[in-house]
Parts: sequence; C-alpha cells; structure tokens
Amino acid sequence: MLLCTVRNCRQVLESTGKRMVCARGHSFDIARSGYVNLLQPQDSRSRAPGDSAAAVAARRRLHDTGVTEPLARGIREIAGASSVDSVLDVGCGDGFYLGSVTRAAGCAGSGVDIALAAVDAAARRNTECQWVVANADRFVPWSEKSFSVVMSITGRMNPAEFGRVLREDGRLLVALPSPEDLIELRGAGRDRTQRTVEEFGGQFRLVRHERVTTTSELDAASVEDVLLAIYRPLRKEPVGAMRLTFSLDLLVFERL
Ligand SMILES: [Zn+2]
Repeated sequence: MLLCTVRNCRQVLESTGKRMVCARGHSFDIARSGYVNLLQPQDSRSRAPGDSAAAVAARRRLHDTGVTEPLARGIREIAGASSVDSVLDVGCGDGFYLGSVTRAAGCAGSGVDIALAAVDAAARRNTECQWVVANADRFVPWSEKSFSVVMSITGRMNPAEFGRVLREDGRLLVALPSPEDLIELRGAGRDRTQRTVEEFGGQFRLVRHERVTTTSELDAASVEDVLLAIYRPLRKEPVGAMRLTFSLDLLVFERL
C-alpha cells in the first residue's frame, strides 16, 4: 500500500480515481499518464530534481536501439521473478528495466523515482505498473513488507528503507556499474561490490554475484546520447561512431 509522504504522516493512501488521499486529508493528484506525484517541498532543492528531460530522452533512445537489452536480460534472469512476485524498482528512471522484468514474469510492479520527467515517460509506456514520483532517499512510500523483490538498478541505495518494504523471504537485487562500464568514455571505474556488500551487511547477505557485459558499435548520435545520459555532453570535439562497453555487477541479497 502506498503511504502519505507529508512529514511524519505515513497514513495509507486510497485512490479516488483522480487523486490519492490519506485519512488526514492530504491529497495527491494522479497525472493523466497514470503516475502519482508524492514529492514534498523539502524534496525538491531545484524545481526539477533528478534526471533532466534531456537525459531521460537520451536514455530512452538508447534503450530503443537495443544496446541495453543484454543488460535487461541479465537482470531478468538474476531477478528470477514469477507471476506471484511483486517487484519494486527504486530509482526506476524511465521504467525500462522494471517493465522488462514484469512483462517477462507477468507480475505486479511498482517504480519510484525523484525525476518527474522519467516517471512520466515510464507511465506512458507501461500502464501495467504503478509509478510514483517521490524522494526514496528519505522514505520509500509503501507499507512494510509490500514487495517480494526490491531492485536498485544503478540507483541510490537506502538499505534501511529497502529492508522495511521487503517481505521476510524477499530478495534484493542491486545493479552497480562495473569497472568496465563505458570504460572507453570515462576510463576504468571502481569496483563497488565490496563496499555495497558492507553497506547492506547489517540486514542482508550476498547470495549471488554476476557480471553482465555487452559491447556495441554505436553511431555518433547514440554516443552523444550516452554522454547526455551520464551528464557529460560538453566536448570540444564532435564525437564519432565508437565501440562502447556496457557492464553491470548484479548482486542478489537475502535477509540475514
Ligand atoms: Zn497524510
């Protein structure tokens, strides 16, 4: 169940069709595309927190070329969702990975992100899932044990809140950019696996770790889109076609 995000309220939100309302009368509009915006004034340091519309559009075009499909396949396989699962994607962005998992499994899905442009794009493409704009760094706005799978795909992590909304027998899937991810553009990255295992160590243990990697010959426009998506659009020289590596470390956790 969705919960009210007004400071310290946390009452259950009920849908009236056009809005979600809590018992204390706090009310949130449901957008025409179907998402609900639960952002509070203190969540928005800028007027448009999170991904910009340009970055969202660039990422969407990249997904549409199919270059990220091998990553989505890896996520689907390791998530192992079936029709009885209920999946939450925290930091869902444009919903590409959540949509891929829930369509393949035929299961329920919910996605939350702080970027309104991203969630709006997600809701337009996938009406099967529940889409929410909220600041999950502060509070993941669902009641305790709402989900059997919680995913964080290259997003920000909130171990305490992930643990709160996950069922006792649930599993947590964390995807991190591997050291090889976009190595051609930004050089070798850090291996964040160990630090992440430690970050979740109080509540969870690592039960599986796999790396999924794909390379693709991208045309100049797609390379530009990658740069936009990672916020490095400013280059002195125009970019040309390039072979790029996309790579994720996929970690599955269960409760201790
Ligand atoms: Zn309320």
